[in-house]
Amino acid sequence: MESTDPAARRLRGAVIVTGSEVLAGRVIDKNGPYVSQQFADRGIETAGIIQVGDRREDMLAALGQASSWGVDVIATSGGLGPTADDLTLEVVAEYAGRPLELHEGMREAVWAKVEKVRERFPDIDVESLRRTSLKQSMQPAGATPLPPVGTAPGSLVPPSEGAEGPLVVVLPGPPRELQPMWEDAVAREPLAGLLAQAIPFEERMLRLVGLPESDLAAALSEFEAGGLELDRMEITTCMRSGEIEIVTRYDAEDEALYGRFDAAIRDRYGSRLYSDDGSHVEDVVRRMLLERGWTIGLAESCTGGLVAAKLIDAPGASSFVRGGVVAYDNAVKQSALGVPAEMLDTYGAVSQEVAEAMAQGVLAAVGSDCGLAITGVAGPDGGTEEKPVGTVWFAAVVPGVPPRARKVWIPGDRASVRDRSVTYALHVLRGALEEV
Ligand code: ATP
Ligand code: MG
Repeated sequence: MESTDPAARRLRGAVIVTGSEVLAGRVIDKNGPYVSQQFADRGIETAGIIQVGDRREDMLAALGQASSWGVDVIATSGGLGPTADDLTLEVVAEYAGRPLELHEGMREAVWAKVEKVRERFPDIDVESLRRTSLKQSMQPAGATPLPPVGTAPGSLVPPSEGAEGPLVVVLPGPPRELQPMWEDAVAREPLAGLLAQAIPFEERMLRLVGLPESDLAAALSEFEAGGLELDRMEITTCMRSGEIEIVTRYDAEDEALYGRFDAAIRDRYGSRLYSDDGSHVEDVVRRMLLERGWTIGLAESCTGGLVAAKLIDAPGASSFVRGGVVAYDNAVKQSALGVPAEMLDTYGAVSQEVAEAMAQGVLAAVGSDCGLAITGVAGPDGGTEEKPVGTVWFAAVVPGVPPRARKVWIPGDRASVRDRSVTYALHVLRGALEEV
């Protein structure tokens, strides 16, 4: 996308996430990442995300801090409710030098929303509702109100007349309110006009598995030494659940350069590069199973059903997931999956033989075309010299090819062993399906 606007430039933004519950970690911030991604999609680079409690002075300081970054736009989240600790609009009004005044249109819009609440709580005190809805009907002078999604309106608050400064986009806290309000706000002035000045940048993500981050770092240096101008792009790499994500941002004019980078990665890593469209491994195996019209059954020991849960997360799972067996105890590996007792005695539960027998056994147990098994030592107890904590065997059985088994040693605590086992199991299945 080439911008035709001669005033186009790289815009920068900041997000201020308010709320003591977020600060305390009781609520995980969803709004900072959402807005930051929205900024990116619209050509705004996020300078920072600030989390701050519901205190006037702290919020003012946060606004000052964000402005000091020289941003063009600040989005705030939270603190638009009817109670006394909901201060955001008041503080932003003060910051922008635009005193709050009653907005007739918002008064009606808020009251219409409040009426809906009254239908659900018929005994509620109408007078107190009027008072609180009046508070939510205030807007900074000269601001553009954003109609309420819940009961609280937001606002687009420009700097005071003649002053330089960022446009402040005031949004509510609940993500299900913030997101639609943001979508609505981007079409309204003065935000729409600001966004029209942005130079869009492209953002792509590659997901790889089965290599250490250091190898990727070495590869990037080699590509550069070979003449690829990687410094023209912003490349960030991130390890997650045993996978590596490479996120690259670049100007539209560097599309060909990105193409060469992408080709170099493919050339070096082959099928270890498994996603270039944001899809996760569960999406990839779902697609592969659906393409072939095959169903899957899970035989899980240390993951206790997490792999089944991951596959069932997506709607439409019933068309390819048959079910699974959580065979934690060896007795269940025998009774539900038909793993022979002698095999368990001879090789131990965490072994290639047992993993394959579990994957094979689940076919009959749930009547699926494919089977995927996980058996490992999640810890903290149960490790031995030969099979230390973190040793996990995976096996996949798919029609037409020999069973595929892999052993992995996963560092970390019980939670990380189980978490990564889910990812690795799905990759073992992907590998088997790719052989078909
Ligand atoms: P309300 O009218 O509900 O009070 P508000 O705009 O005042 O809305 P807050 O009081 O800050 O928003 O937050 C209300 C609720 O929204 C929080 O208790 C929390 O459940 C959710 N929420 C707020 N901020 C975030 C956030 N950054 N990420 C995820 N959820 C959030
Ligand atoms: Mg609130």
